[in-house]
Amino acid sequence: MTVATKKQVHNYSAGPCILPQEVFEQAAQAVLDFEGSGLSILEISHRSKPFEAVMAKAQSLVKELLGAPDQYQVVFLGGGASLGFYMVPMNYMRVGGKSAYANTGEWASRAVKESKLVGETTVVASSEDKNFNYIPKGFEIPADADYFHFTSNNTIFGTQWKQFPKSPVPVVCDMSSDIFSRPVQVNDFALIYGGAQKNMGPAGATVYLFDPERLGHTGRKLSPILDLKNHGAKESMYNTPPVYAVYVSMLTMEWMKRMGGVSAIEQRNAAKAKLLYDAIDRLPQFNGTTAVEDRSPMNATFVLNDAALEPAFDTLWKEAGISGIRGHRSVGGYRASMYNALPIESVQALVDVMDHFARKHG
Ligand SMILES: *Cc1c(COP(=O)(O)O)cnc(C)c1O
Repeated sequence: MTVATKKQVHNYSAGPCILPQEVFEQAAQAVLDFEGSGLSILEISHRSKPFEAVMAKAQSLVKELLGAPDQYQVVFLGGGASLGFYMVPMNYMRVGGKSAYANTGEWASRAVKESKLVGETTVVASSEDKNFNYIPKGFEIPADADYFHFTSNNTIFGTQWKQFPKSPVPVVCDMSSDIFSRPVQVNDFALIYGGAQKNMGPAGATVYLFDPERLGHTGRKLSPILDLKNHGAKESMYNTPPVYAVYVSMLTMEWMKRMGGVSAIEQRNAAKAKLLYDAIDRLPQFNGTTAVEDRSPMNATFVLNDAALEPAFDTLWKEAGISGIRGHRSVGGYRASMYNALPIESVQALVDVMDHFARKHG
């Protein structure tokens, strides 16, 4: 049988989101017949040799793409980054200890809440005073905190940390929405984690990249299912991992490698972001919603100067085959998510619509 291909849509969905077309094709094939085995990827044991190879490949690709030091471990768990919000204090905050957080958006706020369930939590920097439209600078991280947590890219509000804060304590980062979009110095982080469904693959897997040496010092007895050290020691096979999500993530990471790796992807992303933000700045009908220096290349948030013209603008972009640019309800307006797999042609299609709209309503 043949697998139907879909019509061309410019997919700006914020997550789950666009993945490379060739990954969709490989993923579809593996559902029908995994590597010529006569079995579907969906019906083989996670402890079978072929899947063990997939897991090992996915783990090594994370480390290779990010240039992680040898001792770092990679696990893929269910539960989303949201479970990660709770696992972080459980694994890094000492009993009777405390944590420090930067609160730069909705997801960061949720991470703070989970840490408060576990122990003393200090918000050392926040941009809540301006509806999270900037990245706080010039704050201090207390040297007696067990860790400092921040969110590298704020998916809903459209801001990104361009420079990572210098920290006297171990750093934990939720990189859900910009992992693999730019090089990072993995050594600076005790833990990097993120839901797969933005830059890495489909929903269902969460990646954790960590230094196992920095785990197991909290004095807290953990359920093994919440224990990152346990998951690392069991090679991400303590329980059934999200098999298909790991497989498709592996395919996407192989694609990133073919694209030239994270540095080449960063350049592509920069070109896409420049194209769109230049249009936002050039056309008086549009306004960016975030501080210019903190703009995210992943999620560009903007509004129309005249909100009454939204229906007219909506008609135009829908006609152009664009999907998924309505903003999150907490910001309103528009959000164009330009994850790794979004081609620059899709950004050009949106910019063309914006130009057309500006001419009509100038
Ligand atoms: C999407 C997102 C999350 C939530 O991930 P889930 O997998 O839905 O739990 C957390 N943090 C950031 C930065 C996100 O973009």
